[in-house]
Amino acid sequence: MSLPRIYLSAPHMGDQEFHLLREAFESNWIAPLGPHVDAFEREVAEKVGAGGAVALSSGTAAIHLALRLLRVQPGDAIFCSSLTFVASANPILYESAEPVFIDSDEATWNMSPPALQIALDDAEKRGRLPKAVIVTNLYGHSADMDALQAICRRYEVPIIEDAAESLGATYKGKASGTLGRYGIYSFNGNKIITTSGGGMMVSEDVEGLKKARYLSTQAREPFPYYQHSEVGYNYRMSNLLAAVGRGQMRVLDERVRARRANFERYMSELSDIEGLRFMPEAPYGQSNRWLTTLTLDPARSRMSPLEIVKEMETQNIEVRPVWKPLHLQPLYAHARFYTHEASGSVSERLFNQGLCMPSGSSLTEEDLSRVIACFRKCV
Ligand SMILES: *Cc1c(COP(=O)(O)O)cnc(C)c1O
Repeated sequence: MSLPRIYLSAPHMGDQEFHLLREAFESNWIAPLGPHVDAFEREVAEKVGAGGAVALSSGTAAIHLALRLLRVQPGDAIFCSSLTFVASANPILYESAEPVFIDSDEATWNMSPPALQIALDDAEKRGRLPKAVIVTNLYGHSADMDALQAICRRYEVPIIEDAAESLGATYKGKASGTLGRYGIYSFNGNKIITTSGGGMMVSEDVEGLKKARYLSTQAREPFPYYQHSEVGYNYRMSNLLAAVGRGQMRVLDERVRARRANFERYMSELSDIEGLRFMPEAPYGQSNRWLTTLTLDPARSRMSPLEIVKEMETQNIEVRPVWKPLHLQPLYAHARFYTHEASGSVSERLFNQGLCMPSGSSLTEEDLSRVIACFRKCV
């Protein structure tokens, strides 16, 4: 008999979610929108200290709407972190805009301020400044937002903060996701909290949020009949899922503590391995440690990251490579890419050497022991 599967990041319900969901059923608010959606928006905005929030069907939808709010037109340039999930950049293509990718820096694995500076300089010279910069907070760790903001401000380019992975993390005491013009969260099944699928946009721009709400409901205008002047989407969150989200918000702090404890355990049991380095935590904030990630020096590890993924799979343990940088994706083969240092790309090295360890908040001590024992054999 094979051992039970250990997932990379499994959903973890608290004890309120089912009760709230039941309440939604009993009141027959099954349709999209409804009182749980309103309450979920209020509760998220309050928790992160944002001016407002709009609950949506996914994080990807939230990024797409942020681009619409910034009036992105076909052919406009949009800058984006390269080391991220493809969903960060796909909405750029939805609007027929042109993605330009920015490398990571060594210290944070997040968007490199020097690379962004070079890219903006170059864009200015060519008369093609971007309409927005999409900054991902990778694996739950905030990018250096002050440094990136200072650079963007000089060119008057707004930041969309892709905080899909970093809900519950902080940057200089502020909630991750509240530092750009628009911030987006994801409640997909693998994220730190989940509604099975869902997303949220937060901002201080209350007018913008109103517009996002309108675009997310087919851009229906306030007439007694159905009237539409521009293209909209069906991007709203259902009342049922918002009920689940409200329950999840109540345990968010616990989930962050549990994921950080996973990281501490890996750190104390694996850091003696030569050539192994964990994703660092910068002094400016606290990561939610959504995923514990590390790199292995290829000269010192017995197996490569991909071999380790395969070997752990035979033990029914889900380990994944670090995101493949978007500038290396066939989909984005023609996009420009700006590196952190002239000698090469940091994100490519992180991809070649990196691994994401099982990191769910419901992992037991025994689960972690199994992962650690198996991993030690591999390296
Ligand atoms: C998960 C994720 C998204 C997309 O969120 P969905 O809710 O799955 O659409 C976007 N960006 C990053 C960095 C993510 O990890």
